Amino acid sequence: MREAIMPCYAPPAVLFKRGEGTYLIADNGDKYLDFTSGIAVNSLGHCHPHVVAALKNQADQLWHTSNMFRVEAAERLSERLAKLTFADVMFFANSGAEANECGLKAVRRYHYDNGDKKRTRIIGMTNSFHGRTIATVAASGNSGYCEGFIPNDYHFDQAEFGNIDSLKAAISDNTAGVILEPIQGEGGITVVDKDYLRQVRQLCDDNGILLMFDEVQCGVARSGYLYAYQALGVEPDVLTSAKGIGAGFPLAVCMANAKVGQHMVVGTHGSTFGGNPLATTVGNAVLDVVSEPEFLQAVSDKGDYLQSRLRELAERYPTIYGEVSGMGLMVGIKVTPTNGDMLVVLRDKYHVLVVKAGGNSLRFLPPLTVSKKEIDSLIESLAKVADEF
Ligand code: PLP
Repeated sequence: MREAIMPCYAPPAVLFKRGEGTYLIADNGDKYLDFTSGIAVNSLGHCHPHVVAALKNQADQLWHTSNMFRVEAAERLSERLAKLTFADVMFFANSGAEANECGLKAVRRYHYDNGDKKRTRIIGMTNSFHGRTIATVAASGNSGYCEGFIPNDYHFDQAEFGNIDSLKAAISDNTAGVILEPIQGEGGITVVDKDYLRQVRQLCDDNGILLMFDEVQCGVARSGYLYAYQALGVEPDVLTSAKGIGAGFPLAVCMANAKVGQHMVVGTHGSTFGGNPLATTVGNAVLDVVSEPEFLQAVSDKGDYLQSRLRELAERYPTIYGEVSGMGLMVGIKVTPTNGDMLVVLRDKYHVLVVKAGGNSLRFLPPLTVSKKEIDSLIESLAKVADEF
């Protein structure tokens, strides 16, 4: 019964009761191969024993204290992330949009504290997605997300993703920062061009502008690197991470270098739940697994395998499948029939779950623990669907 739930979503009738690895099991016992991971969330699959054990153990000890008090697991997670990334300081939140809110505030606050109070404008990219809060929809500027909610521009501008001239044209004396996804997810899987990204960094440095990466979807080993920027050779000033870091438990983090993070002092920002003992214990358990070099290598190998199998499929069915894109286990394929129609047949007839993305594409975001056999199984179903269309 969904009558008492706001009609923001339109889920199908199927009701999942359990999850095991790469599979979801419905109330009638049917098993579904899950290449969605709850949109890049269940990074270690459903009910990974290491994460379940950590959560159960913490649940018996302490759930919540608020940030009025020290949180041991949050301190440990922040130190580990600082060692593994460019960042010096972290702010823990509960969702990707919230982590982005923190990052956007930090970008503006940096200039404010440095006496450059006119620098309030932040440039977002076409086809981007940063969440559903007022500021994050304004940052992406996508009319579908903004309509009826954004009466003005909230000091956000947009530039064309991948086009350095468009970014140059959008920059003014009032620009505080630039936000982009190193691998765009919702807009269709698009990996940022390395040269373009280097030019973006240079342009920011030349103009005293901060650079913020949204790795809410592409972070936490999904790209085959702990964070995708590590493969792209450009460091941001601020980076946001969510989804996979909690593997299904609400946890997000806004990371910043000291130059920016030092301005987020007492009174500037806060969160009741952000970084609580349960969430950050889970985050540490996830990090135990995903930060191992062998794990990251396996994600890259399986991602390459998935992409090569999809390219074979596109050669075999050129009227159905088109361009394959992505990195690691964040992969998309353009399709000719309506992507939503294909998704429904895959789900209802073949019990394979995938995600739609912009540019009429299908998105594959399996648990990072997916096996090659499960990838083969996806490909078989995609071939059968192609025969039908
Ligand atoms: N940023 C990106 C790149 C995302 O893909 C998403 C969610 O899909 C978000 C931000 C928003 O995250 P959340 O839904 O946890 O607020």
